[in-house]
Amino acid sequence: MDNFAVQAYQRIRQAAVVTAQAPASTLPPQEKLSEARASLPDPASADYLSSHGPEATLDHLLGTIVPALNGQNRSGRYWGFVTGSTLPIAEVADNIVSAYDQNVQVHLPDQTIATEVEDAALKMLLRLLSFGEPKEWEGRTFTTGATASNVLGLACGREAVVTKRLAAGEESVGTLGLLKACIKAGIEDIQVLTSMGHSSLFKAASVVGLGRSSVKDLPYSDAEPWRLDIAAVEKELQREHVASIIAISAGEVNTGRFATTGLEDMKRLRELADRYGAWVHVDGAFGIFARALPDTKEFSKLRDHTAGLELADSITVDGHKLLNVPYDNGIFFTRKSSVLTSVFQNPNAAYLSAGGASEIQSPLNIGLENSRRFRALPAYAVLLSEGKDGLAEMFARMVRLTRGIAQAIKKSDDYIWLPDESADIEDTHIVVLFRAKNEKLNEVLVKTINESAEWYVSGTKWKGQSACRVAVASWRAHDTEDLELVKRSLEAMTAQYK
Ligand SMILES: *Cc1c(COP(=O)(O)O)cnc(C)c1O
Repeated sequence: MDNFAVQAYQRIRQAAVVTAQAPASTLPPQEKLSEARASLPDPASADYLSSHGPEATLDHLLGTIVPALNGQNRSGRYWGFVTGSTLPIAEVADNIVSAYDQNVQVHLPDQTIATEVEDAALKMLLRLLSFGEPKEWEGRTFTTGATASNVLGLACGREAVVTKRLAAGEESVGTLGLLKACIKAGIEDIQVLTSMGHSSLFKAASVVGLGRSSVKDLPYSDAEPWRLDIAAVEKELQREHVASIIAISAGEVNTGRFATTGLEDMKRLRELADRYGAWVHVDGAFGIFARALPDTKEFSKLRDHTAGLELADSITVDGHKLLNVPYDNGIFFTRKSSVLTSVFQNPNAAYLSAGGASEIQSPLNIGLENSRRFRALPAYAVLLSEGKDGLAEMFARMVRLTRGIAQAIKKSDDYIWLPDESADIEDTHIVVLFRAKNEKLNEVLVKTINESAEWYVSGTKWKGQSACRVAVASWRAHDTEDLELVKRSLEAMTAQYK
């Protein structure tokens, strides 16, 4: 079997290298999808669940399933959603994770280095993102992604804002449950105050028992709805018998813009939160990496917009987006590990005890899962391989390409750069939103681009109208070749509608 694995890896790498040599398509041909679909086991067939063996199975995977996968990692021009892709060193590390199959749930320093590698990676991320010293962020863990990190953020916020209104020493939500704890604390509602919060924030609110309707949108203005209206936040914080979590969109997923404009906004929010006993959570899934761009004038506006985010109580970071590690990878930071254990403590399982006090917490007591993948290893590998400067340059390439596309659209007579054509290009991070002026073209714009299989965009809405969204998140971003292709494609499409 081990021999089988060695040979199989060689074949997988060969297949991958071959596709990497030619620019990979963003989408597979429809007939490959049909073939793969037809090949899936049929519950009605007589040999359903019969044994095929590893050799035939590998042939099936490489010959039929792989050709029906999209090119989000291999093409570098798959700009839908905010997918990120995978640096080769991260892919290798991920294969090591599978090969050694560590269960990173209990800190067992005499038996495996895994929990210490995980903590080393978390500390490196703290430094990369300039959040401050590890002792200021004792609560830290890898999650399955930003959605999971947002669940942790709202769960910690919920625990903390209720505890603040209970008498000292009283048990809180983790023990009593939300209903009893809120009654004791005199709380009638817990609200999540945000501006254009990511859809996963609503899901997280539902999961932790606050409800999707607890999320309140407080847009700064009609023109800048992604910005948080801090005066409105202050008003909401004054409501009696209501506890609040402030959720900052850094950045907002449709426009890529930031809810706060810089240090002053964050200082004000911090001061308000402290005065009214609120919790500040930053959803920085992809936007937070603007803080790790090169410290040059080219990126100074983005660095300004993301200044002060370290004043939060908790922060969501995605690994499988801009950091370019494979799915599933997210990161969560909060100041005190006690708030995490208050929610996530896995009680009364003596056989899972780590024994002895350590700076490193057993992950099962500070996050959702008990058994866990060694998902920190690819992130550790990327941080070690690229270093601060290498990553800064990788993020810079993404921003330069995005700005090039934004510039091309701004200059064009046939397309409109959204949300605001007069905006400064230097406000652009990794997202470009745009539409075609010609309504007929605009209706089919997303479909036409995506069917070309040369580049891929997300369809979205802006102020009720269809729009296209480009999100550049791959290490393969190439600001000359890719830009030329986009320009050619934009022109070719409008030529048909003149
Ligand atoms: C992508 C994203 C999420 C959800 O992240 P997943 O990794 O898909 O779970 C949350 N917030 C923001 C701002 C995002 O961009």
